[in-house]
Amino acid sequence: EENAEYLLSLIRTIPGFPKEGINFRDFMPVLADAKGLSILIDALVESLPVDPDEFDVVAGLESRGFLIGVPLALRLGKGFVAIRKAGKLPPPTKRMEYSLEYGTAAIEIEDQAVRSGERVLIVDDLIATGGTAQAAEKLIQEHGATVAGFSFVMELTGIPTPPSIGQHKRSSLLTMP
Ligand code: IMP
Repeated sequence: EENAEYLLSLIRTIPGFPKEGINFRDFMPVLADAKGLSILIDALVESLPVDPDEFDVVAGLESRGFLIGVPLALRLGKGFVAIRKAGKLPPPTKRMEYSLEYGTAAIEIEDQAVRSGERVLIVDDLIATGGTAQAAEKLIQEHGATVAGFSFVMELTGIPTPPSIGQHKRSSLLTMP
C-alpha cells in the first residue's frame, strides 16, 4: 500500500500527449528512482498473475515492456523474448496486425524465440484497450505456445478489454482512470 503510493507519486501524467484528449501516463521516473525501481520489480514479482512454475519465458512488448520484462525474467530465472514493432527484427518472424483508434499497427516476434508448447508471461507498462495485448496473445498462439498470463504496471479503468484478454489471468500493480 505504502509502496503503491510511492510508485504513484513518481508516475507522471501528461495531458494531451501524444494527441489531444489522451492523458499519457509516464512511468519512466519510477525507473530513474533507485528506490522506485527496486519497489517496482519486487512488486511485479510478488503480484505475478500465476505461479512462476506455470510459465517458461517472459515476453515484453516494445519498448517499455522490455525495461520491466528483463529484470523480471532475471529475478525469476526465466528467459526473455522481445515482441517488437514490425520491421525491427531480422527474419524469419511472425507478424500480427491490430487496429488502433485510427489505422492499424503491427507487432512481430522472431520464429525461433518461442517454441511450440511453451507457456509465456506477457508484460508491458500499461494496458488501455487491450488491443496490443490481444495481438501479442495471437502472436504467441501462432507459434503453438500458450499465454500463461499478463503482468502490467498500470491499468486504465473504464475501458472494455477484448474478451480473450479477460479469459487470462492478469495482474496490474496500479489502476487509474
Ligand atoms: P492498448 O493497446 O490500448 O491497451 O495500449 C497499450 C499500449 O500502448 C502499451 O504498449 C502501452 O505502452 C501504450 N500506451 C497506451 N497509453 C499509454 C500511456 O498512457 N502511457 C504509456 N503507454 C501507453
